[in-house]
Amino acid sequence: MDDIVAIENWFEGTGYPVIIAGPCSAESEEQVVDTARALASDGRCHIFRAGVWKPRSRPSSFSGMGSEALGWLARVKEETGMIVAIEAGTPGHVEEAIESGVADIFWIGSRTVSNPFSVDEIAEALRGTGRAVMVKNPLTPDIDLWSGAIERVYGAGISRLAAVHRGFSPFGRSRYRNMAKWEVPLGIRDRFPHISIISDPSHLAGEASLVPEVAERALKIGMDGFMVEVHHDPDRALSDRRQQLTPVAFSSLMDRLMAGWSGVSGRSPYDMLQGLRDQVDSIDYQLIELISARMEIAARMGEYKRRHNISIVQIERWLDIARSRVAHGRSAGLDIPFTEAFMKLLHHESVKIQASVDSDHNPERDHPQ
Ligand code: PEP
Ligand code: MN
Repeated sequence: MDDIVAIENWFEGTGYPVIIAGPCSAESEEQVVDTARALASDGRCHIFRAGVWKPRSRPSSFSGMGSEALGWLARVKEETGMIVAIEAGTPGHVEEAIESGVADIFWIGSRTVSNPFSVDEIAEALRGTGRAVMVKNPLTPDIDLWSGAIERVYGAGISRLAAVHRGFSPFGRSRYRNMAKWEVPLGIRDRFPHISIISDPSHLAGEASLVPEVAERALKIGMDGFMVEVHHDPDRALSDRRQQLTPVAFSSLMDRLMAGWSGVSGRSPYDMLQGLRDQVDSIDYQLIELISARMEIAARMGEYKRRHNISIVQIERWLDIARSRVAHGRSAGLDIPFTEAFMKLLHHESVKIQASVDSDHNPERDHPQ
């Protein structure tokens, strides 16, 4: 796969790192055109993104304006000269968007990437169209599934091909909407040394105020570009309202990123120690999130025990926990005294939380999502 083309060479003048921005969904002609004008006047975004068809987790959510939005994007292209990227979830989307002449780039979204049959069908529809394609990571941190989607698209003759890291669905609540697990996109870089990796800090963070810190991390790790959600009026957005930046916030994000950029392409020799530290950081955050989820359940158990007059500590249960976790730790290569001490600490904290549950305990209030 040596002929995969780096994203900065897909089109002229996009610079490096490549900036893709625009609303989560195309909602109206006014929203699309206003947002695009603001981005064009900033001058650092050369590729405009907007979801025309939106795969949503719940059937009642806004699922995009469909074909009608293609005309609005044609206007964006004509007025601003920006390159247009849209999401393809079915072969029909590819065909319609190609026919309209509007889509220069397609991305395949996380939900779709998780289904190899869908990826095959979309890849076939893209064959011979000359369009560039970005493959988002699947919802789960399954590097084979992500790699397989990249291989399927490449197999349809597409060499202007990039990967987008948008994070992975977390277990329970976490600081960010999705877990970064930086080791996975770094693994993609190891497997496909020529592929550009684009960071999507918007879907990863899930919250506009957290987008800059994620983007900075991504820049340090050596991502080759950014796909950022920007809406002219985020409070009125019909999808992903909390994570979309205003055009003004986008411009200050760009200032911050460009100030922090060393000017060295991410595909230059990779700093092994930094890469390993990033993996450790990512795992530590996940550990903390898991422990927090465990304590939240402890609080619910405390509430249940209080209501049913059950004593907080049952010695058999604790002995069973200690025995089974130490055995599991051992088979995972952990030192026995370490696992014992760690479980004791966890259990101690859990008992403390259960004991402190008062009659008004309300998990929603005490641990707002
Ligand atoms: C999107 O980019 O708007 C989108 C739907 O992303 P994802 O597939 O990453 O959820
Ligand atoms: Mn979105």
